[in-house]
Amino acid sequence: MKYLIILFVFSFLIACKSKQSDQLDLVISNVNLIDGTGMPMKTNVSIGVRDGKIVAIDSALMKSTENLIDGTGKFLIPGLFDCHVHSSDFERDFPKFVHYGVTSIFITGGSLCTNEYYAAMRAHGNQDTIPAPLVFHTSQHFTMEGRHPVKTYKGNWVDGKTVFLIKDTLQIEGLVKEVTQYPIVGIKLTIEDGPHPPWVERMPQAFINKIQKEATKNGTDVFAHVSDNTELNMALDAGIKNLVHWTGIDIDFQRDTLLIKKIYEQKPSFVTTLMIDKGFLYPLFPEWVNAVRQERVFDEADLSKANDPGYIARSKDNISFWKDFLQKEDVQLSDIVAFQVEDIKVLYENGINFALGTDTGPFVLPGYSLHEEMQLFEMGGMDQLDIIKMGTLNAATMMKAQDSLGSIENGKIANMILLDRNPLEEISNTMAIHTVIKRGIIQKRIEE
Ligand SMILES: [Zn+2]
Repeated sequence: MKYLIILFVFSFLIACKSKQSDQLDLVISNVNLIDGTGMPMKTNVSIGVRDGKIVAIDSALMKSTENLIDGTGKFLIPGLFDCHVHSSDFERDFPKFVHYGVTSIFITGGSLCTNEYYAAMRAHGNQDTIPAPLVFHTSQHFTMEGRHPVKTYKGNWVDGKTVFLIKDTLQIEGLVKEVTQYPIVGIKLTIEDGPHPPWVERMPQAFINKIQKEATKNGTDVFAHVSDNTELNMALDAGIKNLVHWTGIDIDFQRDTLLIKKIYEQKPSFVTTLMIDKGFLYPLFPEWVNAVRQERVFDEADLSKANDPGYIARSKDNISFWKDFLQKEDVQLSDIVAFQVEDIKVLYENGINFALGTDTGPFVLPGYSLHEEMQLFEMGGMDQLDIIKMGTLNAATMMKAQDSLGSIENGKIANMILLDRNPLEEISNTMAIHTVIKRGIIQKRIEE
């Protein structure tokens, strides 16, 4: 009897609670929904948001709120996720990400990334006054003396603060323990031999194996930086599950049977970063620079680097590399993209997780370039629904945040972009942004 009374009181409380749930903080009504899961678009859907989360998705009209956005003729997609970001000035960069609907980012180290800098970025991402994306990040780079990125990129790399220059495998146990005290998604490990000649040495296999082993012991993951098939093999041999670049990998499905077998067995996640290839070519294509200029979001100082002789020379070197590699005189961006997307498509269709990421840097711009990354995949023949999933749910999956983020489903954080045009017709319509919503709050965009 006592039990029945408790049950009765309990159901009464639930009834009261569901009455309150009619009150929503925000409703987007009658919209075309592309939810990020890869499911086809649904029409005439209404989305209800409360306390920063999506709490109702149905076609019944929810008009009991003052905050109603009429979604008629518009398209709703999840907030975008850039899975490979560096920032030397987050207060400058973060509003730009949000302006372009990028509501989550994954920072994979950098020469400023002390524990304090990471903490400041996380805190900035968690406040709702100034537009800023949610921040996920790795540890500081694990690399070695004279290797990438310390030798290849200038910057204030400080051993023990922004980078760990490992001298001996015996150091690794302690270092992994040290970095896992912080809220990292995993360890950033640089295996690669540098972005361009003269090559530096790769990290020895014994170091890589030990880092992965210690990471597993401490309940974390390794995010490895590889830039060719040899390095991908090294990472997979150590059991690494996350690769922060696809760029540089070239799979021949006839030749590389062992590598393919390893990929299908271990099912790693890859970040795409095709924008690196486009970024290298920017100074040779004034129309790209002008398109960015018309956005009125980026500093002229950054854009005028396209006239810098150093950057122009770098672009020309890059073109000659592609001429050799592709055995083609008149190399177009589409040629560079096609063979990579072709490989990615096969692996993607066989269940390998790909997440979009740009590797922000010169001519790879916060927010804007994630849309360019999507356009490169469309250029390579990938389906728009899949491209959107790679930029949303797949990224959240790589961050192990798929239960709370990455798609427009009940119970998830309300990060969404309302578009004026249909991105399934043309992926560049992801730039026809009407409203950006982060944690249920409408974000202020630049120059509004
Ligand atoms: Zn990077």
